[in-house]
Amino acid sequence: MKTISHWIGGKSVEGTSGRFGPVWNPATGAQEKQVAFADTTEVDAAVAAAKDAFESWGTSSLARRTAILFKYRELLDAHRDEIAELITAEHGKVHSDALGEVARGMEIVELACGISVQLKGELSTQVSTRVDVASIRQPLGVVAGITPFNFPAMVPMWMFPLAIACGNTFVLKPSEKDPSTSVRLAELATEAGLPDGVLNVVQGDREAVDRILEHPDIEAVSFVGSTPIARHIQLKATEHGKRVQALGGAKNHMLVLPDADLDLAADQAINAAYGSAGERCMAVSVVVAVGDIGDDLVGRITERAKKLRIGPGNDPASEMGPLITREHRDKVASYVAGAAAQGAEVVLDGTGLTVDGHEDGFFVGVSLLDRVPVTADAYQDEIFGPVLCVVRAETYDEAIALINDSRWGNGTAIFTRDGGAARRFQLEVKAGMVGVNVPIPVPVGYHSFGGWKDSLFGGHHIYGNDGVAFYTQGKVITTRWPDPSDGGINLGFPSNS
Ligand code: NAD
Repeated sequence: MKTISHWIGGKSVEGTSGRFGPVWNPATGAQEKQVAFADTTEVDAAVAAAKDAFESWGTSSLARRTAILFKYRELLDAHRDEIAELITAEHGKVHSDALGEVARGMEIVELACGISVQLKGELSTQVSTRVDVASIRQPLGVVAGITPFNFPAMVPMWMFPLAIACGNTFVLKPSEKDPSTSVRLAELATEAGLPDGVLNVVQGDREAVDRILEHPDIEAVSFVGSTPIARHIQLKATEHGKRVQALGGAKNHMLVLPDADLDLAADQAINAAYGSAGERCMAVSVVVAVGDIGDDLVGRITERAKKLRIGPGNDPASEMGPLITREHRDKVASYVAGAAAQGAEVVLDGTGLTVDGHEDGFFVGVSLLDRVPVTADAYQDEIFGPVLCVVRAETYDEAIALINDSRWGNGTAIFTRDGGAARRFQLEVKAGMVGVNVPIPVPVGYHSFGGWKDSLFGGHHIYGNDGVAFYTQGKVITTRWPDPSDGGINLGFPSNS
């Protein structure tokens, strides 16, 4: 069985802890690989390699860093298909969807190629007689990233390209469920000319994460994953004096006003709820139908949902693949099973689905729950599967109160033809990313990504300007080139004249 190893100091390094985790092919249900789990000494080795590399990388020229990043972008472009195939083999998502995440990750590499503009400092001349003041930003040192299973290429690329462009060195701990992609991304970075030790990958579980959170040589931690772990990461890393950004889970609402184009809304609800089998932090998991459109909208969604083709991700005919593990599939199914008893109407129940030739795969069909009470578990919890809840609201005010009462605030969307209503929604809604007739408003690379409330812990969103601010520290330099007349004793606080 193939073993997936660490990537430390520019080369593959076999695990020495003796602990391994299974890596499944979700479409077949077979364990095809195993992944080494790092212990404390292996994490320490990766951090030491990163610390050594920082000595020269932290002061390398912007021209050199960006030349490598441009080359990296070319290599990623040339290897898109191969990376997407790796994602599908371990995550299960369909090939086109995997290609989409590679493209969205590459956006951040493209942003990083222009880091010289982002890192331009500020200069004020003659703030006082013969005194100039400059503000510059410098790298932090060794920084770490801990990433979830659902975007094995894109989420690591939300982090390390900008971090290394800013002059930091990086230790990545990817999800143990689909660990190969990160290693491939690191190999290609080495091929692009990135010096050894600038980007390291340690595989593992909680043991590796805990060491990262405590390690005295790690200055900052970026985390993306579920809310309980995000909260834990923020508390523990902060306790150890680190800068933290920790993005958590979500329950994204799509509000549909009575004047909306209902065919467009139904199409987009399907795409955003069932794409990637609902395993997206920006998935729409609740549609809020306002006024008397509920039956009509649910009818249109049902009609479309019934036609979705579910199958292995490497079959071009499949529109939706399996879930990540058997346990997760069963948990998703339990929400559908429990919904009726908690007052929801089960319009579509996809939990009995089997795919011919893939009977042991972790497949589940799509489910649609209507008139879901807000007290039901299916409404309260992040299901992270292809289960769409519909909630009815009589008015816009009732609908927005529902969204604003949610404990999560990642993304949200409004579907309407009324510009005034959309504008009001943008200003009133308590969520970090808002779509107007756009169901999954994942910001482009040069606008930062992040939620509110339990969807984000820490003061910085990820990538974009916030990403640069997160991975650098500011320094302000006040300069006077003296003139012989500048001497003299004055114990007063410096004032400008
Ligand atoms: P997860 O929280 O289980 O795991 C994320 C990472 O944390 C993994 O690397 C994992 O190994 C590690 N981890 C897990 N348990 C840990 C523990 N007890 N202590 C220390 N580390 C631990 O998340 P997941 O299931 O891989 O991913 C799905 C979740 O991620 C969903 O909740 C989804 O909404 C969220 N997510 C959020 C965003 C966002 O931008 N807000 C993006 C993608 C995914």
